[in-house]
Amino acid sequence: MGDSVSKPPILELKNISYSYHSLQGETLALSDISFQVHEGEFIAIVGPSGCGKSTLLSILACLLEPELGTIQFQNPDGSIHYPHIGYMLQRDYLFEWRTVYKNVTLGLELNRKKTKENLAFVDTLLKEYDLYDFKDKKPSELSGGMRQRAALIRTLALKPQILLLDEPFSALDYQTRLQVSGDIGNIIHKSKKTAILVTHDLSEAISLADRVLILSGRPAHIKRDLPVRLTKASDSLIASRNAPEFASYFNILWEELSNEK
Ligand code: ADP
Repeated sequence: MGDSVSKPPILELKNISYSYHSLQGETLALSDISFQVHEGEFIAIVGPSGCGKSTLLSILACLLEPELGTIQFQNPDGSIHYPHIGYMLQRDYLFEWRTVYKNVTLGLELNRKKTKENLAFVDTLLKEYDLYDFKDKKPSELSGGMRQRAALIRTLALKPQILLLDEPFSALDYQTRLQVSGDIGNIIHKSKKTAILVTHDLSEAISLADRVLILSGRPAHIKRDLPVRLTKASDSLIASRNAPEFASYFNILWEELSNEK
């Protein structure tokens, strides 16, 4: 992340509140949420189940409009369009009737951006993340980890400014999850993408993120905004988990969340 915090934030949420309305009544999901996102930051959001994490991501993705509050954005080039968002979900949504290559270029195809330059970028990503030799296979021929990497390449192909990740590893078994979250974390850090990850896995949050936002029970407000600094021997996930500070961050998160429903 380096010195990006000294630069203005690319995204700033101020006093965001949101309620769902149904015949049964009103459900206040978010209450007075404010935080800033700097370019290149990796932020994890943790909180009790049903507190409003996905609602917050939907607001960030402009799928929902906040009832109260504002979202301000400042692109590094000074322009004021909303940052281009990439969304990665729990399921990889790879289509079995298309090859891996036709899956990872789907976003480019739908957005009419299959330019020579963009396709060359996809090739670079496929090579860098060990999928190039599998580009003519069907998704069912890939491992769970390869499928998630393919889903990420499909998202990165569109060069999003901010990546939103909603529990992207939770459908994987534990062993694969460790491997894939490490791989995906490295890809995101290496490409210096700004990323916001929702997870219920506290170890995952600490090992991947530069900052963890701890949400309260519903309606969610930010209980704590915790910067994470780990002394680690390498960029591997295991090195993060072996960092001397890891246990104390885990204890902080555990304590903050244990008195929430
Ligand atoms: P989380 O992602 O933290 O599990 P959500 O953001 O999905 O939580 O949901 C927050 C709260 O809003 C929950 O109590 C949920 O039941 C409620 N909620 C979510 N979506 C809707 C909806 N479409 N209509 C009514 N209530 C909803």
